[in-house]
Amino acid sequence: MHYDVIVIGAGSMGMAAGYFLSKSGKRTLLLDSFNPPHDKGSHHGDTRIIRHAYGEGEDYVPLALKAQELWHDLEKVTQKQLFLQTGVLNVGNEKSDFIQNIISSSERYSLPLDVLDSSEVNKRWAGITLPNDYIGCFEPTSGVLKCEDCIEAYRELAELHGASILTNSKVKEIVVHDKKVTIKTEEQTFYSDALVVSAGAWSGSLLSMLNLNLPLKPTRKTFAWFDANEHLYNHKDFPAFSFETSQGLYYGFPSINGSGLKVGRHDGGEKINPDESILGFGEVEEDEADLMQFLNDYMPFKQQLKYGKTCMYTLTPDEHFIIDLHPTYSNVAIASGFSGHGFKFSSVVGQILGELIISGKTEQNISPFSINRFIKSL
Ligand SMILES: Cc1cc2nc3c(=O)[nH]c(=O)nc-3n(C[C@H](O)[C@H](O)[C@H](O)COP(=O)(O)OP(=O)(O)OC[C@H]3O[C@@H](n4cnc5c(N)ncnc54)[C@H](O)[C@@H]3O)c2cc1C
Repeated sequence: MHYDVIVIGAGSMGMAAGYFLSKSGKRTLLLDSFNPPHDKGSHHGDTRIIRHAYGEGEDYVPLALKAQELWHDLEKVTQKQLFLQTGVLNVGNEKSDFIQNIISSSERYSLPLDVLDSSEVNKRWAGITLPNDYIGCFEPTSGVLKCEDCIEAYRELAELHGASILTNSKVKEIVVHDKKVTIKTEEQTFYSDALVVSAGAWSGSLLSMLNLNLPLKPTRKTFAWFDANEHLYNHKDFPAFSFETSQGLYYGFPSINGSGLKVGRHDGGEKINPDESILGFGEVEEDEADLMQFLNDYMPFKQQLKYGKTCMYTLTPDEHFIIDLHPTYSNVAIASGFSGHGFKFSSVVGQILGELIISGKTEQNISPFSINRFIKSL
């Protein structure tokens, strides 16, 4: 069967791309090793933070705002609540790059942001105990995305627009020749005019079939839910958060409908092979102790571990994304290396991938995410 476009990897980025491509009338096939949304890659665990004033750099702000608009559109079309406007509290030392980028992003793009000293933070949220060398930047318009529901919503719409989604179909071989694409799974061969590679932690091995050896590092990450005093931590009163502390960069979510407080650590983690089984939460001794230490330091209200999970980041050396056309094959678009902060953008990344495939260009500025920055240095 011949398609206009094949998408390898129907996860966060790929499912959104499948929606935008099929909506534009492209005959689209999405192939996935599992049945998305699933808990084998980078998109499980109920929730992801969306922030607009962006600590990782001002370049991301227009994308974050466009992504937020597209999430609202998706909610309207599907009549599902995918976003909770809890606000996000970013904590750190006033002089840190992360905090400075947040403040300058909010000034440059006129984003609402309350900059609070430690005593103001402690007063506003009784569940937080901040030492006086930290400040808090509270962004009231941002919040939490229900990640699996977002993927499910794009999946339903992509199918409605005629996309075919083949699950449990792991791609084994890719050949691109003369603007024609041939894709093989264990059982079948498919043909198309164009290709999107959005395979998350598995992108490295697939892209090497297209002569690209990119410095992508799949990394084991952990996160866990803790029993929480609902009075202090329920999502109507308590925000999602990101804390840059001297011990590490931690993030978390309020208790959503009694789920408990969810906490994870952004920095660190061991390099892994995504094709091998990953140690579960608690199989590494520090998993619980590390998160517990964070809670004891900053939210010390006798939280008890409920359960934890593991997930994968795909890190690039500079922790910025790769969103680009293949340097040799102009009919191949690539989205990878989301370095643990990509989910919020998946709506707009899906749209960008669709535009790249259809017209070879996009209205968004994706120059910071170019593949060439890694090819030159190899
Ligand atoms: C614990 C954790 C917390 C996070 N928190 C946040 C947050 O708060 N905010 C935020 O914005 N981001 C966050 N992220 C990052 C975000 O979730 C990821 O950047 C994003 O999900 C990556 O999307 P992806 O499409 O690249 O990967 P995935 O969503 O994993 O999709 C890749 C898909 O490709 C498929 N695939 C792989 N190989 C093949 C093959 N050979 N053939 C067919 N299919 C294949 C996989 O099965 C998978 O479905 C977090 C990530 C983790 C792990």
